[in-house]
Amino acid sequence: MSQIRSRAAVSPFRRISGEASFRLPSVDEAVLAAQPAEPMHCLRPTVITDTAARFAQSFQGDVLYAVKCNPEPAVLRAMWEGGIRHFDCASAGEVSLVRQMFPEADIHFMHPVKSRPAIREAYWRHGVRDFVFDSAGELGKIMEETEQAADLGLVVRLALPAGGAMYDLSGKFGAAVDEAAELLRAARPRALRLGVSFHVGSQCMDPLAYRRALVLVGDVIRRAGVAIDIVDVGGGFPVSYPDIEPPPLGAYFAEIEGAFDDLGLPAARLWAEPGRALVAAGASVVVQVQLRRGDVLYVNDGVYGSLSDAGAPAFRFPARLIRAGAKPSEEPRAFAFFGPTCDSADYMKGPFWLPADMREGDWIEIGQLGAYGACLRTAFNGFDRAQLVEVRDAPMLRTPGHEPLTLAA
Ligand SMILES: *Cc1c(COP(=O)(O)O)cnc(C)c1O
Repeated sequence: MSQIRSRAAVSPFRRISGEASFRLPSVDEAVLAAQPAEPMHCLRPTVITDTAARFAQSFQGDVLYAVKCNPEPAVLRAMWEGGIRHFDCASAGEVSLVRQMFPEADIHFMHPVKSRPAIREAYWRHGVRDFVFDSAGELGKIMEETEQAADLGLVVRLALPAGGAMYDLSGKFGAAVDEAAELLRAARPRALRLGVSFHVGSQCMDPLAYRRALVLVGDVIRRAGVAIDIVDVGGGFPVSYPDIEPPPLGAYFAEIEGAFDDLGLPAARLWAEPGRALVAAGASVVVQVQLRRGDVLYVNDGVYGSLSDAGAPAFRFPARLIRAGAKPSEEPRAFAFFGPTCDSADYMKGPFWLPADMREGDWIEIGQLGAYGACLRTAFNGFDRAQLVEVRDAPMLRTPGHEPLTLAA
């Protein structure tokens, strides 16, 4: 990841002042100027800022950006500019990155299993006070490494039955209802503030999944019989992909707010931890075709690069041709891709719809890759080079409810 070369990094404060002293290029301008033979990541800082601002202003609680989804500094700056002040971190590395960039940020350590040195570094060096756990063992570690601190936010992660999301996260983390209630009782006397969290799974297509989870939270709280200060509904908010249009964001917020009200906790604060929803539309990757064989294109990025979700998880992404000179065919055709490594698993079945006359040297812009794209790159087989450019383009796909605030009035 250290191989990403940052070009045209722009100070957010210059944008706030509204001076149009520079203009970001479009994707086409950037590609035709650079003729990139390496994957070119095209970051849309304004799209990220607008999406974050809209989410933060519509959600009735604190919005914690899930940093793992895209930890690129330019992305974090765009978040901050959109009004995001809370960050959901899962490692000492993420905590330290966010703290270094934003001394004022509220950082929350939301991984239920942490190393002892990571807990110490977060608490003593970076001022982190909120920690998640889903076991008595982890609560013990947090108390020991913070030396029985009296200023902790302690959040119990609740396990959920699977359902509704394209990525199920229920298998690894979370305490069952009985155990969660017990953990809340154990943590109450040690917590300055006490919370319950869950994660419905990523790319969750069903707003009712949040309501069902909040009903379960109600069960846990009743069994525990202790006061609760924080209810954290996690991430999972979906975005559009080709032929997949989720319900509008407002439908999710309506279910969450309704079910939260039903819990009858007027003093509790609502949190959310969106990742994908805030950044997916904020970046695309331009790849180049190195060979065509029938309906398969050999391109220079793949499942060991930023297209991991196009591999085994078989996500489909929007794609479009960028070509200098000759006009492309108007006939669309379904293509599959091979990535650059020698592993035959480096295959993306798509289909990616592109002009029928695709050929060597063509560039392809692949969209909705701001989430779980660049952050998953590896150096496998030596394909570790990529460029980063900031562009002014609109998203390649719109997600309902993500329209910029200025248009929504
Ligand atoms: C990954 C993760 C998120 C973000 O999930 P999205 O589906 O990208 O919104 C939020 N919270 C936790 C604890 C996570 O692990």
